[in-house]
Amino acid sequence: MKSYKIYIDGQWIESMNKEQITVTNPATGEVVGYVPKVGETETKKAIDAANNAFKSWSTTTASERANYLWKLYHLLLENKEDIARTMTMEQGKPLQEAIGEVMYAAGFVQWYAEEARRVYGETIPASKENKRIRVLKQAVGVVAAITPWNFPAAMITRKLAPALAAGCTMVIKPASQTPITAIKIMDLCEKAGFPKGVVNLVTGNANEIGKTIMSDFRVRKLTFTGSTEVGKILMGQAGETVKRISLELGGHAPFIAFEDADLDKAVTGALASKLRNCGQVCVASNRFYIQESIVDKFIEKIKSKLADYRVGNGLEEGVNLGPLIDESVYNKVEKHIEDAVNKGAKIEFGGKGSKAEGNTPGHFLQPTLLSNVTEDMLIMKEETFGPVIPVLSFKSEEEVIERANNTNYGLAAYFYTESLARSIRVSEALDYGIVGVNDGSPSTPEAPFGGFKESGLGREGGHHGIEGFLETKYVSVQI
Ligand code: ADP
Repeated sequence: MKSYKIYIDGQWIESMNKEQITVTNPATGEVVGYVPKVGETETKKAIDAANNAFKSWSTTTASERANYLWKLYHLLLENKEDIARTMTMEQGKPLQEAIGEVMYAAGFVQWYAEEARRVYGETIPASKENKRIRVLKQAVGVVAAITPWNFPAAMITRKLAPALAAGCTMVIKPASQTPITAIKIMDLCEKAGFPKGVVNLVTGNANEIGKTIMSDFRVRKLTFTGSTEVGKILMGQAGETVKRISLELGGHAPFIAFEDADLDKAVTGALASKLRNCGQVCVASNRFYIQESIVDKFIEKIKSKLADYRVGNGLEEGVNLGPLIDESVYNKVEKHIEDAVNKGAKIEFGGKGSKAEGNTPGHFLQPTLLSNVTEDMLIMKEETFGPVIPVLSFKSEEEVIERANNTNYGLAAYFYTESLARSIRVSEALDYGIVGVNDGSPSTPEAPFGGFKESGLGREGGHHGIEGFLETKYVSVQI
């Protein structure tokens, strides 16, 4: 089994203490490969390299930076099958979905190759005739990116592309469950010819790497995607050096179907928003509010569609629902189902996991539909990160908006209606950063992605996504 290396200052290196992390396949339990388990020493070296490279990289022209990104974009497309296969092996998502993610990941590189050349400053009319006011946008400095395992490629490029486009240099720490996809992307960065030190990658002890990054003044910006819990720790640590931070944290998305919805579209949207990546998505619908008069029909339709899902190893033909990433995620999802059932929920479909079916090394769970769900259940409060659809009913628009907004999370919300007026009213009333109106999959490189409340800070994607990597400098000129 292959041992991979980390990438610092244009060199592939092993961990100094030779310790390694074993990466396993969540579908089979087999070893996929080994990556270095590094800590403070290597992280410091990566920051040194990024810091040394910053001066020259930040003063290249936007057009030069765009050209490197275009190269990376084409390399990602050329290598999409290989990266996707690696992703399926270490992350579990079905191969077709993994290919889709690589295309999505490449989309961010393409978008920011274009946006690199659209970072504009301002000239503001001054109040004194002998003064001129210029506003410049400049790269913020060395950026650290800490990324999660659920989208091992896209969560890297969504940060890397705008940071490099803006003129920043980077240190990236991928999740320990899915570091090989990240290493393959680094390999393509090397092939794209980015100068040494511009991008660096370390794998290893999250806590130690995190602390090293957060306490180092030279790192001027942290961009993080992961749990709200870790996001809060990092936000606290950022105070020490007043680092700029962008956080993409957890969600608890409501999905609402009004009685004037096109029910078939609502069912398709519900499944798209819930079952992608086996529900391990921060924008996944977690609570399904269906208006009273259509709730029975909705349940019947979802049930019949769930029968078409095939759970298994994502490399096998026909499998469209992979395993959960690991035992802790599996246990949490099972706990949510158990708690709901204990409090009176009815399992309309699924509910069984591979543990109940006998000892397989994979962490599989059937797609599960629950009815008779009530607001006091755990599943209504915590992010599930699994293929479970808890259905509740509601009476009025006013009531459902209040229930939908009654959470500390504020990432994504979805609703279905054929009424134009309602679509405007409800989209304005929902306290969420992303609202899908008759759309179960709104994520795209062109649009700003991010949350209200405890779901995060800042936006990724769109022309907004580059802002977090830029400082605003006011230059006052007296003539
Ligand atoms: P998840 O629940 O999706 O695994 P985490 O927030 O635990 O989300 O992980 C997201 C990323 O944050 C991963 O790369 C993980 O290694 C990293 N991480 C976890 N704990 C810390 C920490 N204390 N400091 C810095 N990074 C951390």
